[in-house]
Amino acid sequence: MEFQPIIDDIAASLAAERGAGRVATYIPALARVDPAQFGIALCTGDGQVFAAGDADVPFSIQSISKLFSLALAMRHVGDALWQRIGREPSGNPFNSLVQLEWEQGVPRNPFINAGAIAVADRLVSACPDARATLLAMVGSLCGEAVAFDEEVAASEAATGFRNIALANFMRSFGKIDNAVDAVLDLYFHQCSLAMSCVQLARATAFLCRDGAHPLDGSTVVSERQARRLNALMLTCGTYDAAGEFAFRIGLPCKSGVGGGIVAVVPDRLSLCVWSPGLDDTGNSLLGMKALEMFAARTGLSVF
Ligand code: GLN
Repeated sequence: MEFQPIIDDIAASLAAERGAGRVATYIPALARVDPAQFGIALCTGDGQVFAAGDADVPFSIQSISKLFSLALAMRHVGDALWQRIGREPSGNPFNSLVQLEWEQGVPRNPFINAGAIAVADRLVSACPDARATLLAMVGSLCGEAVAFDEEVAASEAATGFRNIALANFMRSFGKIDNAVDAVLDLYFHQCSLAMSCVQLARATAFLCRDGAHPLDGSTVVSERQARRLNALMLTCGTYDAAGEFAFRIGLPCKSGVGGGIVAVVPDRLSLCVWSPGLDDTGNSLLGMKALEMFAARTGLSVF
């Protein structure tokens, strides 16, 4: 399939709509991003990369990091992870506290904030320097060094009252083992990772390769774990819009409030779209449109 003309066409068709949606402002450092940016990049299972628009501009990956931290926790903690975290869509906003009380401090899934904070707790227990381990894994996957944006991490730490509440609430149920500050330090830093569409398409290619590293073929996660990551992305990766994503796009996706969305076509390719303007569910408005166009144009879907 000729991917370059398809993504060029998608970028051109959405040019007039650049700036649509609302940039996340609850994290002050994100509110300053130019909303009129749009990028798309795709990486095939055999490593060919195609890109259009602002595909090389680094942006805050935010909740897309939940994918990497979960992959790392699957490696280090294995199935014991699921004693602390569920696998069901939440049907609630990503930062909701409501369900957590009903469900005794066990988050619905690893892709809502509470779930990712619980994953971070497991990583703090399992790795002597979890921040460095995560950074090394993501850098190795995309083939070049990546870095935390300390300004974004500090901005989140200063205003992350809901995440602080979620972490303390889980700790009150005995579901967080480590000091809340240490757990949130990892969580805020992973969210602050700055990466481009090209880097993210590369870094998620292991998900379209049954867990094999995109560059050296080593095992990032097992085939079964890769399948499970994709399943969780499809059912929970876009929060309370997961049903809409499955309906309109039909691919495992993971979004972040920085405006990025990664999507996987198992056994074929991984792709990343980015545009900072969000819809009411915290997913990139143009990103979702771009993925819908991609699925329609290529006929690629898991269904
Ligand atoms: N860092 C953001 C938060 O904790 C991540 C949310 C997101 O990308 N959906 O609220």
